[in-house]
Amino acid sequence: MPVNQSSRNSIKRLGIAWSLLLSLLASQSWAAAEIEPALTADENALIGWLEDQDAQMLAMLERLTNINSGSLNKAGVDEMAQIFASELRQMGFSTSSLPGEVIEMPSCPGSNYSVDVADHMLASKPGNGPRLLLMGHLDTVFPPDSPFQTFRTEGDTIYGPGVTDMKGGLVVMLYALKALAETGELDAMDMTILLNSDEEMGSLSSRKYLEEQAAEHDWGLVYESSGSDTLTRQRKGLGQARLVVNGRASHAGGAHEQGRSAIKELAYKIVEIEQMTDYETGVTVNVGVVSGGEARNTVAPCAEALVDLRYPEPQQGEAAAEQFADIFGNVYSYPIDSGEITTEHWINLHRPPKIPTAESDYLLEKTRAIGRLLGQELGVTDSGGGTDGSLTQAAGLPTLDSLGIAGTGAHSNREEARISSLVERAQLSALLIRRLVNE
Ligand SMILES: [Zn+2]
Repeated sequence: MPVNQSSRNSIKRLGIAWSLLLSLLASQSWAAAEIEPALTADENALIGWLEDQDAQMLAMLERLTNINSGSLNKAGVDEMAQIFASELRQMGFSTSSLPGEVIEMPSCPGSNYSVDVADHMLASKPGNGPRLLLMGHLDTVFPPDSPFQTFRTEGDTIYGPGVTDMKGGLVVMLYALKALAETGELDAMDMTILLNSDEEMGSLSSRKYLEEQAAEHDWGLVYESSGSDTLTRQRKGLGQARLVVNGRASHAGGAHEQGRSAIKELAYKIVEIEQMTDYETGVTVNVGVVSGGEARNTVAPCAEALVDLRYPEPQQGEAAAEQFADIFGNVYSYPIDSGEITTEHWINLHRPPKIPTAESDYLLEKTRAIGRLLGQELGVTDSGGGTDGSLTQAAGLPTLDSLGIAGTGAHSNREEARISSLVERAQLSALLIRRLVNE
């Protein structure tokens, strides 16, 4: 109801204001990011150099977009990794590949949920001052047989698979570094670049590398997009589950009573799973893919489902995972003790919620203040979508995860991005890196 809602909102706002005040008092050194000193002559030169890179940046994005790098297309992901490794070596980085792996998942006979993850790319260079970790992903959600494959521009808009999520961001990152290399400043910087190949599958293989690197660095920068003209402050946690129900096949006419329908059992489970969604607490559950059965006239021997989970607080994720396990393990359609229905499942809380800290807010506000120096007014938003920044932030690295291109429509054939934001975001990033290192 409107009255309750608005009073809840004002209580919530009061709570947020109070916790902000407390966090400001607790760490005054992180509180002064709203005003940044004016641009220096060196910085104007840096910005000017990038101003002239618009055509090169767009050409680079076209080249990357025309390489299909769907998460399971190893050849394409590897080709992307090689392009970045070679560019980064030219700037003085040493590069290596971090092994991917095969991740086994339960599945019905004939379907295969297991994923074979390509290698990840790591580049690093020693230097002085704060240690920066820059991150991005090489993969997209579009497999080689997707109808959405081509790069195309119209006015100030680019259309294409991955232009927003996140090949545009990779170009932004690369050109920010090129600008710093051009002015000679990159040489002295202590920096690591981690580009993973499985972000769109939940970073199941790269998580350990991201967490390891998080512990070794002082600031984390992720080049995902945050829509148009915004930066993301806070994100929900993400979980995923795969469920396989095994029953017993039988002729649907001749021996119906001997069958044990896996589809019927899965249907009961789906109703239970969907009831976990609670908009009040922010926990949402989505049974996104269901398949099973062999023929219309066969009682289904196997059925499977993929489930998505979003949650604002870490303990809500843990509670939901327990509830999944209960529902998956229970049998609703036949006597539970008969053993005629069996299940296998896999549950993974692959992204913790990204909860702001005084340091990450400092990084965010500093970036916005630098944006204002450049005439870029950047709003702040919260998101139900996860990034690798959630992993590094939870591992203790203050992380800003939305430094990429301005674009929308990720994960759909409406994916598009604003061409002029390539240069704008590279300028923002080059200045941010410069000022983080020199402060
Ligand atoms: Zn992404």
